[in-house]
Amino acid sequence: MAARIIDGKAVAASLRAEVAAGVAAFKAETGAVPGLAVVLVGEDAASQVYVRNKNKAAEGAGMRSETIRLPAHASEAALLDVVARLNADPGTDGILVQLPLPAQIREGAVIEAIDPAKDVDGFHPVNVGRLWLGQEALAPCTPTGVMRLLAASGTALRGAHAVVVGRSNIVGKPMAQLLLRADCTVTIAHSRTRDLPALARSADVLVAAVGRAEMVRGDWVKPGAAVIDVGINRVPGAAGKDRLVGDVHHAEAAAVAGAITPVPGGVGPMTIACLLENTLKAARARRGLVRRA
Ligand code: NAP
Repeated sequence: MAARIIDGKAVAASLRAEVAAGVAAFKAETGAVPGLAVVLVGEDAASQVYVRNKNKAAEGAGMRSETIRLPAHASEAALLDVVARLNADPGTDGILVQLPLPAQIREGAVIEAIDPAKDVDGFHPVNVGRLWLGQEALAPCTPTGVMRLLAASGTALRGAHAVVVGRSNIVGKPMAQLLLRADCTVTIAHSRTRDLPALARSADVLVAAVGRAEMVRGDWVKPGAAVIDVGINRVPGAAGKDRLVGDVHHAEAAAVAGAITPVPGGVGPMTIACLLENTLKAARARRGLVRRA
């Protein structure tokens, strides 16, 4: 039987509507509007699209949204000045510095300079630490989105074996932690893992966050498993146009899995919806409207 397709667009749309309602309630309660600031350094084409989409989505949810642009040759000090100004600005609830940054700027130094209470990407060591300690935290958006997709698909997580392929700080590691929190037994795989196909085949929940087009084949998937494809890869398509594919060979995996996310239209739309959710969460927390652990 073919797998159920987990519709990320639909789940993201309902989360965005939920956030928009939360923003309206926040405005009524505080008289303030949650504010998101996105900082973009340089002219990277993909980053420009991401930033535009983030701003549009924030405004669509009723938030205030601004983009601060710095030239590609901007110094680390100049970027740190912008971050310091946003940290101090009472109207800014969420700060997101679009990655990657040009080589002259140390990503770690910038991430650590962001006020953890405004760190809506969830990359600051304080939020990473809180997440791993099981405390209330701003968690990274992509893995948070994956958890929502698993919930929406009715996937049973307690006691399930989850295999996360990829151990990056922005996807793989926080993904593993969120699955652990949901009582999965979690294995994190990476480029040095032995016999990855066999390991993947033991997964009830298989998350691929690798960045290698269609690496996960149908015979890597346990029959009935939930397969989440985080990958976004551009490959040459018909008529000289690129097409997007995931890290999973979709057609093969869908023939074996119980449920699977498509690319595009799976995890991608969830990332921005969860960014909006984090911004509202930060705005509420900064005004003492929710309990912080
Ligand atoms: P990344 O930082 O490059 O990390 C890739 C991970 O995959 C690394 O841990 C690497 O292992 C592992 N890996 C590489 N080759 C492997 C192999 N042959 N076998 C097993 N593991 C292998 O990438 P990322 O930032 O986590 O992103 C992963 C993918 O998700 C990319 O396609 C990216 O575009 C996509 N993404 C999508 C969203 C979204 O919104 N949908 C958001 C973020 C990222 P080592 O650590 O051993 O090198």
